[in-house]
Amino acid sequence: MNRREFLAVSAASLIATSAGKLNAEAVDKAAPWYQTMLRCGQINFNERDPLTMKPEEWMDYWASLRIDAVLLNGGGIMAFYPTQVPYHHRSEFLGSRDLFGEMTKAARAKKMRVVARMDCNYAYEEAFKAHPEWFQHNADGTPRRHNECPWLYKTCMFSTYFTEQMPAIYREINQHYMPDGFYTNGWPGTEALEVCHCENCQKIYREQTGGTPPETTDVHNPVYRRYYDIYMDRIATVWQLWQKTAQEHNADSVYVGNLGGGMRTVKDVKRLGEVAAWFNADNQGRTGNTPVWMCAQQGHVARSVMNGRTVTNVVGSYSNSSIDWRHTSKPPAEMTMWAAQAAASGMVPWLHRLGGQVQDNRWREPGRAFFDWLATNQSHFRNRASLAEIAVLYPQKTVAFYGSNGTATRKLNGETIDSAEYLEGMYAALLEGRFLFDFVHEDNLSAETLKKYKALLIPNAAFMSDAQCTAIREYTSSGGCILATFETSKYDEWGNSRPDLALKDLFGAGVSGERIGPLDNSYMNIDREHPILASFKDTTILPGAEFRVPLSPVPAEQRYLSVIPHYPAFPPEMVFPRTPHTEEAAAIFREQGSSRIVYFPGDTDRSFWKSGSPDLSRLIIDSIHWMLRDQPQPIIVEGDGLIQLFGWQTEPGFALHLLNYTNPNATRPFFSKTYPVGPLQVEFQAPAGSHIASAQALRAGHKLQIRTSGDRLHVELPKVADYEVIAFS
Ligand SMILES: [Zn+2]
Repeated sequence: MNRREFLAVSAASLIATSAGKLNAEAVDKAAPWYQTMLRCGQINFNERDPLTMKPEEWMDYWASLRIDAVLLNGGGIMAFYPTQVPYHHRSEFLGSRDLFGEMTKAARAKKMRVVARMDCNYAYEEAFKAHPEWFQHNADGTPRRHNECPWLYKTCMFSTYFTEQMPAIYREINQHYMPDGFYTNGWPGTEALEVCHCENCQKIYREQTGGTPPETTDVHNPVYRRYYDIYMDRIATVWQLWQKTAQEHNADSVYVGNLGGGMRTVKDVKRLGEVAAWFNADNQGRTGNTPVWMCAQQGHVARSVMNGRTVTNVVGSYSNSSIDWRHTSKPPAEMTMWAAQAAASGMVPWLHRLGGQVQDNRWREPGRAFFDWLATNQSHFRNRASLAEIAVLYPQKTVAFYGSNGTATRKLNGETIDSAEYLEGMYAALLEGRFLFDFVHEDNLSAETLKKYKALLIPNAAFMSDAQCTAIREYTSSGGCILATFETSKYDEWGNSRPDLALKDLFGAGVSGERIGPLDNSYMNIDREHPILASFKDTTILPGAEFRVPLSPVPAEQRYLSVIPHYPAFPPEMVFPRTPHTEEAAAIFREQGSSRIVYFPGDTDRSFWKSGSPDLSRLIIDSIHWMLRDQPQPIIVEGDGLIQLFGWQTEPGFALHLLNYTNPNATRPFFSKTYPVGPLQVEFQAPAGSHIASAQALRAGHKLQIRTSGDRLHVELPKVADYEVIAFS
């Protein structure tokens, strides 16, 4: 076993068998407490809180939500108990109080677990003066400080602050309070790596990386690549040390780091998932033009590496948006939809409030109502397995490295590309098509993981290793179907260009030249009939992708869509095709053995995301139906609305989750009200051998009449406001 494999095997107690599927017996016998937890709450103390915080009042509130565990500030930047650890700064207002101890006692009196919330990222000047080696430095030798609070110094994870000081603090807290776990705010995160110039780091650069890594993500730099591996190794080492330290007094205790990032991760979430017994996504809300479904996307990403182990998602009760207001409440409809997505996508919602003295209480009752409802129906949220038959490959390296400049964005011929836009487009098309799907991380493509899926969708996984290509080839030879787009397999995992697409044998064509684009006003000509194209009536052309790789010729009888190259879009006198027809295929639809394969050499998924063109999403949706041989989906919902579906095998039976995203604010904050949909006709194909006697709408709180036709069950939902769960038992 190499080091990485060893870390993987020894990670926590691996009670899962394959992706998303729990070994129920193992869970029941050996599950640590956090594996069965379904509700979390957090009150984040500020320095002044010891003056006024009322432990019983707060715990009355959290108990009314029936939460399993509450996160309470222990220490790190600031101790909220009378610490004796040198340079561990006590709150200036702590006085004779032991706020962490009082809050812990009050929580336990209400039968809630306590996780000590820590912060390992900053410390005060007294620590800096005594231990400058604990802290990050800039290239000019100055220490790094917090931009808003410059009296705080940024710690370096390669220093003994992480391997000695933080463990000393954990041990002290363990000794006095024995919490059920530790959580670190803000570390390690999933964003781009930090490059520090402290003496420790300089030594690493001299001895291990062979030079100073670039400040920004640059996968073409060999120093960066070595630094990436060293960095991920260090995170794993620290994570495991802290897990071990947490368990010194209590074998049932746990360390949980701070992850998240939604679909945009630079750090390798597969490797983080190998050391994490519990994955926390600090994904509290949305900003800018982020779609509302970002929380469910986070669930998909996290589950793709956690094999059924606990994933939590922090639900911010405050107004985080493009402008942050940390002390006013976000609209209840938005907060509830975020929590609902966490629950629907198989995560545990964790409600978060900042500051003990609350002036805006508008979050309290909506939070209580949702969590209390979750508790009442909790058995239906104990998931055994996902019912999805479609997998979406999570293209980790492409998301992290296809771009540059440390932000996962890149310039392609002047166009700024976010490397997750391909995945965004695929995701949005899957929503429109109301498909059930899981994500599978690109490093989890084993036959065991993939065997439950009929199709694997590959949204421009441009960076792929030979091993990943082999796994996909094996999947198709066992009958699995694939749909891939654009530069999939054009580069190796570090972005070195291959002479041709590694998967050209599956696609049935390779590239004949350099990538083309960005170009608008190009088209696809419908050359011949195909079931995928059957819904396009009254047109012989479809919108072309903004970018494409030109394909080598395919026989005319295999060409269903061909490229009509760009011609001027303005002025109108000039708008006519200069080359009305070419022999360049714009899509490949083919069968190989019992596998069906669709390949779009254009960035069809991203072009859909950017343009919103319903023709492009229809092309993706109908391609999936063709690959699945038009077999009905396990869950079919009929009726208007933008609805995301999740389906789970649960302890009592099955749960079908419907999230109603129909809202003018679906792609910008906030949901301020809901726009109910219904009636909806829901059809469910229960797995063979299951016995279903009843159906309930858990949000509406009433029974549903089941109608059976063949082996499919039908129920009608008269109305869905924000979220509904149909529980079949
Ligand atoms: Zn450093």
